[in-house]
Amino acid sequence: MSINVIIAGFKGKMGQAAYKMVSEDPELTLVGLLDPFTDEKEIAGVPVFNRKEDMADLDAHVWVDFTTPKAAYENTDFALSSGFAPVVGTTGFTPEQIEELTELSRKKELGGLIAPNFALGAVLLMQFAAQAAKYFPDVEIIELHHDQKKDAPSGTAVKTAELISQVRTSKQQGVADEEETIAGARGAEFDGMRIHSVRLPGLVAHQEVIFGSQGEGLTLRHDSYDRVSFMTGVNLGIKEVVKRSELVYGLEHLL
Ligand code: NAP
Repeated sequence: MSINVIIAGFKGKMGQAAYKMVSEDPELTLVGLLDPFTDEKEIAGVPVFNRKEDMADLDAHVWVDFTTPKAAYENTDFALSSGFAPVVGTTGFTPEQIEELTELSRKKELGGLIAPNFALGAVLLMQFAAQAAKYFPDVEIIELHHDQKKDAPSGTAVKTAELISQVRTSKQQGVADEEETIAGARGAEFDGMRIHSVRLPGLVAHQEVIFGSQGEGLTLRHDSYDRVSFMTGVNLGIKEVVKRSELVYGLEHLL
C-alpha cells in the first residue's frame, strides 16, 4: 500500500529535498503541499494549499514538516488532530511542547517523529558524545550552519547537550569568577556546558563536540555537506511512523 504524504514548507531548502525524495519513491504518493505565500494551485497534479486548515480532509497518512520554528508546533498539533502522523524536521520545540504533542499522539493512537537531525551520522555523533561524556565530563559544543538559519542554537546541539546532561553529573565549566568582556563570548549555557553557534554562507549543517581532560582532548565531528544527507532519515521516518501509535523525539528511536 502506498503511503500518502503531505509536505509543509515544500518551497524551502529542506522542503524541496523532501519533495524530490517523496516524488521519486514509488512507495510514497504526494497528496498535498503547503506554503502560506505561494500563488501556485497545483504542481505535477498535486494540490497546493496556503492554509493548513484547508488540508484537514485530505486522504493523507503522513505530514512532513520543514517550516519555521514559529509554525512547527501549531502544524504538528494540527497534523495529529487531523489524523496525519507527523514527521517533523523543523527545529525550535520546547520540551513541554514535545511532551504535549506526545500525549496527543497517544490519545489519537498515531505514530510521529520530531527529529532535530535526520542525518544518520549526526544521530551516531550524538550517541558517541553521550558515551564519551561519561568519562570526559568537560565538554563544549560548536554547531555550524548556513547563514539563513533562523534559530540558534541548533536543535541538534540542544539534543546533544540534553543527552550529555543525562549521563554526567551537573557541572559548571570554567572558573567561577569568569568574566565576559564581550557579551556572549562564552556561548550559550546549558546545564553548565557551553554551546557556540557559527553562521556562515557556504555551510550546510555541521557539529563538533569537544571534550577536554588532563593532558588529552577528544573531538567528534559530523558534516552534512548536502541536504540529501537528511533524506534517508526522512524516508525511514515516513515508513516507520505509519506502523506506530506514539510520537517519538529523535530518529534513534526508530532505528
Ligand atoms: P527554509 O529554506 O527557510 O524553508 C522553510 C519554508 O517554510 C519556507 O519556504 C517558508 O516560506 C515556509 N513556511 C514558513 N511558514 C510556514 C507555515 N506556517 N506553513 C508552511 N510553510 C511555511 O528553511 P530550511 O533550511 O528548509 O529549514 C526548515 C526547518 O528545518 C528549520 O527549522 C531548520 O532548522 C530545520 N532543519 C532540520 C533538519 C533536520 O535534519 N531535522 C535539517 C536541516 C534543517 P517563506 O520562506 O516564504 O517564509
